[in-house]
Amino acid sequence: MDRRHYRAFLSRRVLLSGAAQCYHLEFSVPEVEIFDFQPGQFISLLAVDGNGKQQTRAYSIASAPRPGGFDLLVNRVEGGFFSNLLCDLEPGQEVEFHGPHGMFVLKQPLTDSIFVATGTGVAPIRSFVEWLFPESGEDRSEGRDIWLVYGTRYKTELYYEEYFEKVAAERKNFRYLKTLSREGEEWQGLHGHVQGYVAQIVEERATQTGVVTASDGPPFDIHAYICGLNDMVSSTRNLLKEMGWNRKQIVFERYD
Ligand SMILES: Cc1cc2nc3c(=O)[nH]c(=O)nc-3n(C[C@H](O)[C@H](O)[C@H](O)COP(=O)(O)OP(=O)(O)OC[C@H]3O[C@@H](n4cnc5c(N)ncnc54)[C@H](O)[C@@H]3O)c2cc1C
Repeated sequence: MDRRHYRAFLSRRVLLSGAAQCYHLEFSVPEVEIFDFQPGQFISLLAVDGNGKQQTRAYSIASAPRPGGFDLLVNRVEGGFFSNLLCDLEPGQEVEFHGPHGMFVLKQPLTDSIFVATGTGVAPIRSFVEWLFPESGEDRSEGRDIWLVYGTRYKTELYYEEYFEKVAAERKNFRYLKTLSREGEEWQGLHGHVQGYVAQIVEERATQTGVVTASDGPPFDIHAYICGLNDMVSSTRNLLKEMGWNRKQIVFERYD
């Protein structure tokens, strides 16, 4: 298939975690006024490796659509080709890509939503949150209850923590739960994996609304959007299905 290819120029690189070697990368795409996409989608980056072979990798866009460009959130994978290329990119350097691609997008009409992410899986969630709760302009959340359950191993891997905290402080319908699976007792916040907190949200909401499963509807108006590595995605999907959710209510993106 003939796809339009674009050139993205790195304008800013921020190390978010030295321990996890994770970078926030801001790109400009000068050839278009706005590179448009739906929040949650990814792009495919292309580059030729040391053996002359063309390599393609998917990266979720970590920002809402905006004039000028987009952000990525990239974790350096030891020995990995593309993640190292991106993490070593200097401002002004360029990379080729095509897209946008993917079905990890908000369902319309918007419903109450639970966003679930681990690690860099929070990238498309940041895109959702920026779009729903723009800093300037109209709030697009329509008063729906939105939860973000974000899990990482250590505190150093909580990417965009300040940003999500700020949105949670400013918008009463956005709740931000961050849980760490390997941090010791000195961590005063939530411990453990995301699944336990997702189950808690679902149970509490069911008690409040009296709507437990899809068959109790209509309307069973809530979706989950899950992004990260396959183990977490699969076990969260299974948990929700066991709790009576219909598979159409579960939207997911797997990175591996
Ligand atoms: C739809 C989609 C969206 C994605 N979005 C992002 C994103 O926003 N940010 C991001 O950092 N990554 C994202 N990824 C993962 C990304 O595409 C690459 O797989 C990752 O950057 C590793 O590529 P690499 O070329 O460096 O490693 P490779 O050269 O492909 O692999 C090197 C080694 O690392 C292992 N490996 C591959 N990926 C991972 C991983 N994620 N963690 C640990 N080990 C791994 C491989 O098994 C292999 O042994 C996404 C993947 C998909 C499918």
